[in-house]
Amino acid sequence: MPVTMICPNLGCRRPVVASESARGKIVRCAYCNQPFLVPTKPPTKEPANDSKTKKNAR
Ligand SMILES: [Zn+2]
Repeated sequence: MPVTMICPNLGCRRPVVASESARGKIVRCAYCNQPFLVPTKPPTKEPANDSKTKKNAR
């Protein structure tokens, strides 16, 4: 599954697609040649953290 990021270069801000194997590595933007780090995990929150849901609150 490819990883899509936005180029951190404020003068570029183009979507950059990197391969899954590029996680944790430095890739270069194909448009402005700006090197940046591919995050190792997607920026999604983990729902399986708190199992105590207060559903019975009146
Ligand atoms: Zn760029």
